[in-house]
Amino acid sequence: MNFSQLAVTAPVLRALTDAGYVAPTPIQEKAIPVVLNRKDLLACAQTGTGKTAAFAIPVLQLLSADKEKQRLSGIQVLVLTPTRELAIQVEESFRDYGKYLGFKSMTLFGGVSQVPQVEQLKRGVDILIATPGRLLDLSSQRLLDLSKLRYFVLDEADRMLDMGFVHDVKKVLKLIPAKRQSLFFSATMPSEIRELAGTILSQPETVAVDPVSSTAEIISQELHWVTKEEKKTYLCDLLHERQINPVLVFTRTKYGADKLARFLQKNGISAAAIHGDKSQGARQQALNSFKAGKLRALVATDIAARGIDIEELQWVVNYEIPNVAETYVHRIGRTGRAGATGTAISLCDQEERAYIRDIEKLIGKKIPMKSALAAV
Ligand code: AMP
Repeated sequence: MNFSQLAVTAPVLRALTDAGYVAPTPIQEKAIPVVLNRKDLLACAQTGTGKTAAFAIPVLQLLSADKEKQRLSGIQVLVLTPTRELAIQVEESFRDYGKYLGFKSMTLFGGVSQVPQVEQLKRGVDILIATPGRLLDLSSQRLLDLSKLRYFVLDEADRMLDMGFVHDVKKVLKLIPAKRQSLFFSATMPSEIRELAGTILSQPETVAVDPVSSTAEIISQELHWVTKEEKKTYLCDLLHERQINPVLVFTRTKYGADKLARFLQKNGISAAAIHGDKSQGARQQALNSFKAGKLRALVATDIAARGIDIEELQWVVNYEIPNVAETYVHRIGRTGRAGATGTAISLCDQEERAYIRDIEKLIGKKIPMKSALAAV
């Protein structure tokens, strides 16, 4: 199966080719035809399955078809996400897949000034990706109009519920037209979620795919307990002793990425850091060197690592444990691609214990503990 067999149109196909996507993932194969058929959708799919593209691709395409028939004004698409990080990722996906279509997208979340957000809204937005709090806030100030909405997506509904957003979601439903197409994505489908879906969807088609943890079977995972102070040296020793090369190393912060890359360099490991503060050119250059085998370690933050597709990457190291469990799944998914085997090593210190517990809950298993170094 390829994307054109799913009736994906030329401008979107071109963008997918640019992104390096060759074939649709199972959730995309199942969901795209349903959405293109203008049906409501209830989808059970976890992060890492390609679920974002499963809704972004067909929504972009439908919107593009609408635009050919009439002039569009006002916000056409609303995607609600439980977290700001997810909102950013989803918006990037819309931008990537829709880069040849010319729609305007934006994210809306709390914790930052509303002024630039309001200005951007005034300039006109077709696709809005928002967390519920700020959305309701701006709407109550009459700074946001959702009356022209055609497509509504609820992403990660179960997390939305866990985070106590159910009332907010219900309030949002009152702000959008009853006549709309709705897509509902959740990693799990307990009864409360089905109930919520029932209030949002009308005669939906249901699709489901296996959780990502099944793909993770081919990735062997290791957990190493290390003190914060010795992490850097531990990593160097580990890379040497296990002859780990090449390796993608994740840090939580940009500053941490730079610092670690410098430390590795000093210790004879060729390394570069990529993160959002580096220019596109510098990032690309580091990535090219890494792909060409000229760098042993690429140190990346999560946002910078999105879109990095390195074939046959065998090693991933979580130098710092992500505080969002799904990020772990994303990170380790960089290895073990297309059936190849991979190893994901997580270096965890005392302060990160809680993050590991969240991750183990999400993936539904314990990460085997290892102390790979003879000396430890
Ligand atoms: P998601 O489940 O939406 O968080 O996506 C997980 C990762 O898979 C993201 O990094 C996407 O860029 C990537 N992805 C999604 N669809 C495809 C595809 N058809 N081929 C290759 N990578 C994909």
